[in-house]
Amino acid sequence: MEASTFRLFDFSTFSKAVICTHVNPDGDAIGSSLALKFYLERKGKQATVVVPNIFPDFLKWLPGAESILIYTKQAEQAKTAIEGADLIIVCDLNQPNRLAGLEADIMASHAPRILIDHHLDPDTDFCQEMYSEPQACAAAEVICQILSKLGELDNISFEEATCLYCAMMCDTGAFSFNSSRPIIYEYISQLLARGIDKDQIYRNVFWTASEARLRLQGYLLYVNMKVLHDRHTTIITLTNEERHRFKVKNGDTEGIVNIPLTMLDMRLSIFISEDTEHPGIMKLSLRSVGDFPCDQMASRFFGGGGHKNASGGKLQCTMEEAIDRVKAAIEAYADMLK
Ligand code: 5GP
Ligand code: MN
Repeated sequence: MEASTFRLFDFSTFSKAVICTHVNPDGDAIGSSLALKFYLERKGKQATVVVPNIFPDFLKWLPGAESILIYTKQAEQAKTAIEGADLIIVCDLNQPNRLAGLEADIMASHAPRILIDHHLDPDTDFCQEMYSEPQACAAAEVICQILSKLGELDNISFEEATCLYCAMMCDTGAFSFNSSRPIIYEYISQLLARGIDKDQIYRNVFWTASEARLRLQGYLLYVNMKVLHDRHTTIITLTNEERHRFKVKNGDTEGIVNIPLTMLDMRLSIFISEDTEHPGIMKLSLRSVGDFPCDQMASRFFGGGGHKNASGGKLQCTMEEAIDRVKAAIEAYADMLK
């Protein structure tokens, strides 16, 4: 990426940006989008973050979180913002269907679209310009790279630095996977120099369990987790009835899919949960250690995708059918899971 190609920050060409991200936004999606918003505002532009649906409570402390427009709750305001935008930044996704309910409005806009992402195999048609870096640990790292090339990383605000750090921390499980490239820590060193409190950010995200979350976690691991020892794989299920019973709030299930992989010899963990907004749709989260290609399994069997060690997808069926289809997918990869 040469600095001269950074039309994204050619400030003469736009005044009102919309920044959008993927459905079920995670820490990288929200943190990266808010960092871009603060950056553009600091440069004198208007910038609005619009997300397809609700985001977890453990991200609500992020600076600017209260300004985010949620399409499923504020459709009219979101549509107005998109219609009025003369620049659209699409962050942390690689294909337009990941925008869910926002897709039609974003694609109908005549404003130029710029992609900032780190997923494999981005759809090359839906944005005029792409900053796609699949080796990056988070979309936030791609933003750090852009800011660094622009000579701007030294000038960012406390808010921008907080959002970027939180985003990278979330997508790497607090720098416990996909995070061994030295450049990440060079960027982090510059974020820390802005005065951010990384220990507090960690506590805000990972050390804030509710009683409901802890009891749900115990229940899912003790009662619902199936261990397929001969396939080194675990399956955990969660229905909406169980969500109600445990008074689960948005975000309470975050990260539970990773826990089975702490068992020695486990290679694949699959979490199947009924969609809260669309009962009848089963969401799948896949996590692996080592070479097992979660993204491939998700795209072949669950209409999804993602990264090698973390992917997702969905199925329209009952929980029982979803379990059968997951078991069939596991058998299709038996050679790699033996
Ligand atoms: P999670 O399990 O946290 O929902 O998703 C893990 C990763 O898988 C996400 O960061 C995203 O990259 C990818 N992912 C999740 N769901 C989908 C999906 O439905 N389609 C695609 N293409 N990727 C997904
Ligand atoms: Mn990401």
